[in-house]
Amino acid sequence: MDFNVIIIGAGPGGIFSAYELRKRNPELKVAVFEAGHALHKRSCPIDGETVKSCIGCKSCSIMSGFGGAGAFSDGKYNITNDFGGNPVRVHR
Ligand SMILES: Cc1cc2nc3c(=O)[nH]c(=O)nc-3n(C[C@H](O)[C@H](O)[C@H](O)COP(=O)(O)OP(=O)(O)OC[C@H]3O[C@@H](n4cnc5c(N)ncnc54)[C@H](O)[C@@H]3O)c2cc1C
Repeated sequence: MDFNVIIIGAGPGGIFSAYELRKRNPELKVAVFEAGHALHKRSCPIDGETVKSCIGCKSCSIMSGFGGAGAFSDGKYNITNDFGGNPVRVHR
């Protein structure tokens, strides 16, 4: 199948890019490829009892998969750098 746009990664950046592209041009064929698991299969094995720390899963369900690193955040999406800073600013 042919696509007009291929997006690598279904984190917030990829999902919102696909959403905005289709909103502006519904004719666009947009594909999003994600290396991690589908949302319903994202589960970290750490349970605090039998698995107490990271066991290095091939695909980390906390950081990868549909929804990206933010899938298990508390739901607020920060679009400001008022806190956290600006990563391109160099402090001397
Ligand atoms: C634990 C945690 C809690 C957070 N809580 C908040 C919060 O409450 N509020 C907030 O605003 N932000 C929060 N963040 C930050 C937020 O998650 C990130 O800013 C956001 O996820 C970045 O989005 P992104 O799309 O740029 O990248 P990512 O979310 O990292 O998405 C990139 C995706 O690309 C996939 N990928 C990478 N390489 C490939 C490849 N070669 N092929 C296919 N797929 C690939 C990855 O698997 C991943 O799913 C949190 C982050 C973490 C880790």
